[in-house]
Amino acid sequence: MIARRTVLKGAVAVGAGLAAQGCAGDAEPPSPPVQDAAGHLVWRNWSGQLHSYPAERVAPASEEAVADLLRKAPAPIRPVGAGHSFSALVPTDGTLVTLDGLTGVIAHDARGLRATVRAGTRLGDLGPALAAIGQEMPNLPDVNKQSLAGALSTATHGTGRAFKALHGDVLAFRIATPAGGLVDCDATRNPELFQAARVGLGAFGVLTQVTLQNAALARVKKRVEPRPLADILDAWPALAAAHRNVEFFAIPFTGIGATITLDEVTEAVRPRGPDEDAGTLMELKRLRDWTSRMPFVRRWIAEKVLAPNFEPTEAVDEGWKLLSNERPIRFNEMEYHVPFEAQVPALRAVVAAIEAHCPDVFFPVEARVIAADDAWLSPFYGRLSGSIAVHAYYKDEFRVLFDLVEPIFRRYDGRPHWGKMHSLKAADLAALYPKFEDARRVRASVDPAGRMLNAYLREVFGA
Ligand SMILES: Cc1cc2nc3c(=O)[nH]c(=O)nc-3n(C[C@H](O)[C@H](O)[C@H](O)COP(=O)(O)OP(=O)(O)OC[C@H]3O[C@@H](n4cnc5c(N)ncnc54)[C@H](O)[C@@H]3O)c2cc1C
Repeated sequence: MIARRTVLKGAVAVGAGLAAQGCAGDAEPPSPPVQDAAGHLVWRNWSGQLHSYPAERVAPASEEAVADLLRKAPAPIRPVGAGHSFSALVPTDGTLVTLDGLTGVIAHDARGLRATVRAGTRLGDLGPALAAIGQEMPNLPDVNKQSLAGALSTATHGTGRAFKALHGDVLAFRIATPAGGLVDCDATRNPELFQAARVGLGAFGVLTQVTLQNAALARVKKRVEPRPLADILDAWPALAAAHRNVEFFAIPFTGIGATITLDEVTEAVRPRGPDEDAGTLMELKRLRDWTSRMPFVRRWIAEKVLAPNFEPTEAVDEGWKLLSNERPIRFNEMEYHVPFEAQVPALRAVVAAIEAHCPDVFFPVEARVIAADDAWLSPFYGRLSGSIAVHAYYKDEFRVLFDLVEPIFRRYDGRPHWGKMHSLKAADLAALYPKFEDARRVRASVDPAGRMLNAYLREVFGA
């Protein structure tokens, strides 16, 4: 996020006297039992907040085996990638299916920069595999631990006004459905299933392979630059137009922000240095711990001690090596996508609400820009979007924060990220997605018995 020298050295002296103020969430959240009464082992998501006890866990080694298990395995049948979603898409007491046995590039078209990839491939493994054939995915999310199918199924995105979310570069896929076996889909073969299941929440079946429109390898400069938050907010539309990829972080209670830009260059390679984000985050947490009940002190330390010590950093390399980061500190997250023109007002309202009501928040709020696409369940359907993401440290209570900001996102016509926390049900979603009813109809046609639906997905689809 932001590089720092010894950011809080000076602040220690100021803050140590305030440490007695207490702080949120220093206890580990309770862990669920390792197994249930029937001896089924626990499954947990990345943040540790979700868990379930699948009766069966399967890792099919062929597409035919996937199609077979969709007919026979105990329901609910839930595909899992890397378990990086925060919404309850995956938990099941039926069958958990991983495609960790179906990975790698199957074929490629060098001239057209296309590649067909097994759906279980992790994005982090796909980078070097594509680079070896002169290709890269046009854009990538903040981390690359996800499976390709898992990332596509929740409309995972990076940032950049000209870049669609990952599913926007899907040309075709093969999916195993409970009713239909293996089905090939693209704009002309089974076009309705293609439009509905490109962002499918794992509710239409199991993706087994995906054909991607990639890009030629490009050298980019990544620059991380701390700036006053007010300046970033004023300049955001211009920044979004000026840079290939751009996002920013807003650090509540500090008036500080940081932009991250990536632009194509011909300069010599300067590989990225060690990732310092985790260290910076823990310093922000210490500042929170000392001063959460004294916002004036917090802002003063941030302005006088933190801000002067933040330094811009730069690296030059191929895009796939620079776009994603390491996120070793766990959190829970809510992210909504609003029309681009509503992003700055919505973000101002979010930061103001946090500063008025949530003194324990120390994670930066993240803002990105994503191009429109036409997948029926894409949160970017038909509109250039600005995303706003709020994070709660995994030891902190997240509901207070998420209950506070969700009405703001809704006021600005926001659509929730499918992989992150939200409280919307089928009726809310139908009002936000012009093709929601079509998607429901297609879903029911490929899974008439609802074998893919867990409790959460029944609420989402109103089944
Ligand atoms: C640290 C962190 C950083 C993140 N950064 C970003 C970011 O920058 N941008 C962003 O948009 N999101 C981001 N996310 C969210 C994340 O990209 C999504 O939640 C993504 O879906 C996770 O992928 P996964 O492989 O872990 O899938 P899972 O969470 O395991 O599953 C997600 C969905 O995909 C379905 N699925 C999995 N495999 C298949 C398959 N073969 N066929 C059909 N459906 C399948 C599952 O059933 C489920 O519905 C982040 C999450 C974390 C924890």
